[in-house]
Amino acid sequence: MTTIGVIGAGQLGQMLGYAGKQLGLDFIFLDPSADPPAARVGPVLHFPFDSEAGLKQLADAADLITYEFENVPVDALRKIDPGMPVYPPAAALECAQDRLAEKHLFVSLDIPVPAFRAVDSAADLRAAAAEIGLPLVVKTRRLGYDGKGQLILRELADCEQALEALGGNDLIAEQWVPFDREVSAIGARNVSGDIVHYPLTENVHKNGILSVSRAPADDDAHGATATGYLHSIMQRLDYVGVLALELFVSGDALLANEFAPRVHNSGHWTIEGAATSQFENHLRAILDMPLGATDMHGYAGMLNLIGTMPRNRDAFGSGLSHLHDYGKQARPGRKLGHATVVAGSLAERDAALGRLARLLFI
Ligand code: AMP
Repeated sequence: MTTIGVIGAGQLGQMLGYAGKQLGLDFIFLDPSADPPAARVGPVLHFPFDSEAGLKQLADAADLITYEFENVPVDALRKIDPGMPVYPPAAALECAQDRLAEKHLFVSLDIPVPAFRAVDSAADLRAAAAEIGLPLVVKTRRLGYDGKGQLILRELADCEQALEALGGNDLIAEQWVPFDREVSAIGARNVSGDIVHYPLTENVHKNGILSVSRAPADDDAHGATATGYLHSIMQRLDYVGVLALELFVSGDALLANEFAPRVHNSGHWTIEGAATSQFENHLRAILDMPLGATDMHGYAGMLNLIGTMPRNRDAFGSGLSHLHDYGKQARPGRKLGHATVVAGSLAERDAALGRLARLLFI
């Protein structure tokens, strides 16, 4: 029996667990929360993410360690016994945790990015405005997620206020991109270096949080380019596991925004919409199994259920739509579940997504 140790026990851990049961895997999680979603699929060690004692217990109980949470302290990961495989590699996590390092990686691979500048003072921010122009998107280099830790600077007069709101240093200022669409390229690479990727997914965010994903994205022009970028990032990082690359489409330009070294919300549609889900392929990748086919079953869409779950669930299970309830306490702004639609045509998929959105008041 193989046991996978997972740092983080949120919904991503839960869905990894559901996928892993079919592969005959056992799971154990590390997470300080009292009743996290992944508790439904395996025991949880309740320790802080950087607890040496917690990580030791996890390593003792597991054959292999992975993580579902991007803000795992890299130093803690590096303290795990070198004999214990930890995937994705710590270097990839370290790069993804620092927006500046991430941008430098993209540039070194000739992947276009929005113009950017490191900002550690008001003078730096003014220089960024002069070089790049306003508006600027100013972000903390570390620990931002779901649009938190960032703001749009429209007027130079607001420089000081913006800096103060974001902590004053360790920031990055980026060109504000008037994008037409946001897309993500998701793929998996196994220990042997084989790579598979899913069709490009188109994503709509509301208040910085992913709201709707549609796959395949209506974007033949950029699919092959985005996939090429994904492959070069995975190869450079000697990556193992699922990686999601988020990009902006602005006219003819395709600009990389960031990557996540883990299974990704914009890939949830793969559970019902693809031959092999991103969760199963992540597990296959880290176990160095042959990767599963990523062909789509039709046209897929996903709606995130944020803040409240639908009380009436009659619309689900009709064949087209599927409900995932993570079993979390409802709280405003919290991801509680998602709904997936898989249909035979684009029109049918969009009509079903529209019906669900009206029903769920999204
Ligand atoms: P991030 O945390 O970088 O993924 O940013 C969250 C969301 O903010 C993105 O999904 C975009 O909708 C928006 N955003 C981030 N950076 C930029 C940018 N440089 N230009 C325009 N919108 C952006």
